Amino acid sequence: MKARPLIVSDCDGVLLHFIAPFVDYLREVHGLTLSMDSFALTGNVKRPDGSAVEPKEFPPLLDGFFADWMHNQHPIIGAADSLGQLAKDCDVVVLTNIADHHAERRTLELARLGMPYRVIGNQGGKGAPMQKLLDEFQPSEAIFIDDLPPNHTSVKAHVPHVHRLHMVAELEVRHLIPQSPDAHARHDDWPAMLSHIETILKG
Ligand SMILES: [Mg+2]
Repeated sequence: MKARPLIVSDCDGVLLHFIAPFVDYLREVHGLTLSMDSFALTGNVKRPDGSAVEPKEFPPLLDGFFADWMHNQHPIIGAADSLGQLAKDCDVVVLTNIADHHAERRTLELARLGMPYRVIGNQGGKGAPMQKLLDEFQPSEAIFIDDLPPNHTSVKAHVPHVHRLHMVAELEVRHLIPQSPDAHARHDDWPAMLSHIETILKG
C-alpha cells in the first residue's frame, strides 16, 4: 500500500474548547473561579475568598472535569471540516494528554462531533509517542499540531523531520502563549491551518 501522510493533532485547545467549559465546571460544580491572568491553570484557580487552590488539589479537579463535563467541550470552528478534508488523503490520529480511562470517552465525544479518529491518551512529552506513531504508520510525511510550546520542543527533540504546526485556537489564552520557537509555523484558526497543510502536502 502506498504510504499516506499522517496528521497528528492535539485535542484541547485545537479540536475542542477547554478553557471556557473548564471555567464553567469550576464555577458550577466547585464554586471556584479561574481567571487566565497568566498561562497557568494551577495558581489561577481561586476560592471565593480569593485564595488560590493548592497545586495538589488541582489534578482531581481536572480529572473531575474530564469525567463529568467532557460533553460540554464544544468543537473549535472548522476543526471537524478541516480534518474531514485531510482524512480523504491522510491518516489522522488525535494525541491528547489525558488519562487512559478518559481516552475512550474522548474518542466517542470526538466522533459525536464529526471527528471519528483514533485517540491516544498520553502523559508528558509528545516526542516519544510521536516516534511510535511514525514507526507504526511509516507515513510519506508527518504533521504535528499542538497549542503548547513544550510539546513542539519534545517532538522536535525526538523526530525533528516532523512538520510542527502551532495552533492556539482559544481566544482566552491566545495572547498568553508566544509562538513556539520549535514549530515551523503558527496558525490560530483552522481555515489558515488547512491551507498551510495542503500547501505542504502538495509540495
Ligand atoms: Mg492542548
